[in-house]
Amino acid sequence: MPTTPQNLVKSAYRTHSCGELRKDNVGQTIKLSGWVHNYRDHGNLVFIDLRDREGLTQLVFDADACGADGLALSREFRSEWVIAITGEVVARSGNLSNDKLLTGQIEVRVKELKVLSQSPTPPFLPDDREQVNEERRMTYRYLDIRRAQMQETLRVRHEVVRTMRRYLGDRGFWEIETPILTKSTPEGARGFLVPSRLQAGNWYALPQSPQLFKQLLMVGGCDKYMQVARCFRDEDPRADRQAEFTQLDVEMAFIERADIIALMEGLVAEIWKEQLGVEVSLPMPLVSYQEAMNDYGSDRPDMRFGMKLHDVTPIVKKTDFKVFTGADLVKCVVVPGGAKMSRSETDGLAEWAKGYGAKGLAVTKVVNGVFDTGIAKFIAPVSAELIAHVGAKEGDLIAFAADKTKIVHKVLGEFRQKMFRDLKMTPDRPWSMFWVVDFPSFEYDEEGKRFVALHHPFTAPKDEFLADLDSPDRAKIESIQAKAYDMVVNGYEVGGGSIRIFSEAVQQKVFKLLGISDVEQREKFGFLLDALKFGAPPHGGLAFGVDRLVMLLRGINNIRDVIAFPKTQNGTDLMCAAPSPVEEKQLKEVHVKLNLPVKA
Ligand code: ASP
Repeated sequence: MPTTPQNLVKSAYRTHSCGELRKDNVGQTIKLSGWVHNYRDHGNLVFIDLRDREGLTQLVFDADACGADGLALSREFRSEWVIAITGEVVARSGNLSNDKLLTGQIEVRVKELKVLSQSPTPPFLPDDREQVNEERRMTYRYLDIRRAQMQETLRVRHEVVRTMRRYLGDRGFWEIETPILTKSTPEGARGFLVPSRLQAGNWYALPQSPQLFKQLLMVGGCDKYMQVARCFRDEDPRADRQAEFTQLDVEMAFIERADIIALMEGLVAEIWKEQLGVEVSLPMPLVSYQEAMNDYGSDRPDMRFGMKLHDVTPIVKKTDFKVFTGADLVKCVVVPGGAKMSRSETDGLAEWAKGYGAKGLAVTKVVNGVFDTGIAKFIAPVSAELIAHVGAKEGDLIAFAADKTKIVHKVLGEFRQKMFRDLKMTPDRPWSMFWVVDFPSFEYDEEGKRFVALHHPFTAPKDEFLADLDSPDRAKIESIQAKAYDMVVNGYEVGGGSIRIFSEAVQQKVFKLLGISDVEQREKFGFLLDALKFGAPPHGGLAFGVDRLVMLLRGINNIRDVIAFPKTQNGTDLMCAAPSPVEEKQLKEVHVKLNLPVKA
């Protein structure tokens, strides 16, 4: 459902786009320009589908209309040449019309033609996607972008951003740019560094997000800020991440959680309606972090389907099965119809679970009303009680995880998703959209032996927990809740934010709790702490991942398919070959000496 006017520039090259002509235009003399999408040479008749961003139009070349020279020239055309024509719109006779094409009722009988650009046989054609590997598509990205699907994605992306700007602009938000060359703003990831030429030995960092700047805009009295902002995080390769990505970044002063939630879910509902015609029911549910973890083992569960986690610890403790009796927590997931999985498939699950830190995954099946296979014999004494407790039915598979709470949740949370995907289950509803709230403020990092912020260090703890910030008790700190919220759509965290700390004293306490010394606080965050001294309003905000939203709207799994010029998983732009070495002279200018790892 396009909301942007689709008109292309009318110029000396064209009177219409290639997606525009209809029966009403029959008899008109028109001009079109575009790419030769395909051609069929019938000797004294040549047919060409001419393509531009808006669609395809069939052109016919015959000597009567375009002269013998014109026909001869048209026979030389090859795929992806760029041509301009003048011709007459004619109706296609009934059986020759093509209903799949918007312009399928007509064709253009060409009178004049001109070649604007030639092309050798390209490495692949726009319709070839399935046969072309991604590396090749990335190397010739400009050819890949010619694909109708890619063009549609870029159009949707543009429209989503346009709606964001309009929706927020109409509500008094100002789009304000924040620096790209800045001081590192820690958001938990590694940052990119840029050496300064003018100040030898000093470095800028690229922003992981505009977080601190947007807070300072609130201190600066701007009240409502938005920005379609590029963020940079030097993270290890992951299929759904890019080193640079786009956020819709928002911040407001004098608001509470409910205000920002209502604003942002309204925006998402508007985008879903415009792009998919889907009516999102508002308000979206609020789900507590604890509930999400207990029931789904994840803080961003996909609730389009059930398969909730069941706590069966008290029941299985009645058996002699050491794996269960010795564990902190035993939970299970019932997979409807999962008994059809083969022995080798279920054996493979234990190995798979190890990837999530579990020792394994115990499974059994419900056959003829009792447990069969797997760990059946170990839990036989409690089988009736278990089956009744978890509501398992004939033909179901049950998977158990027994471990520390964190691991049980992690592995079963992932297991639900895996079963949904692998068994190609039909979702109960097409969209699951809700907010996760009441997150813990801090998590204890066992490796680093310190607390880390679950969102970021600028997130306000709930007022009733402020006194606990000074507590020496680890459990007390872990139970502090944050004024944070994430929007989850079909199992993806599409956005997250929080009400911020606006008191210098509280901010200092949080820094201290996170192990940031007074000296480091001044060095890294002195400007923020100073700003909080000079009359900071209560404020809060959020950021949506634009790439992720477009992926969901387009049903695309690969983040690279929603970005015009993406990087590969190891951060390479294959088209322009970045990153690449620079000249010695350039390094000298920025006072950098290389110390490269020795190649093995
Ligand atoms: N800056 C945060 C992020 O990038 C979002 C926010 O708290 O507004 O995730």
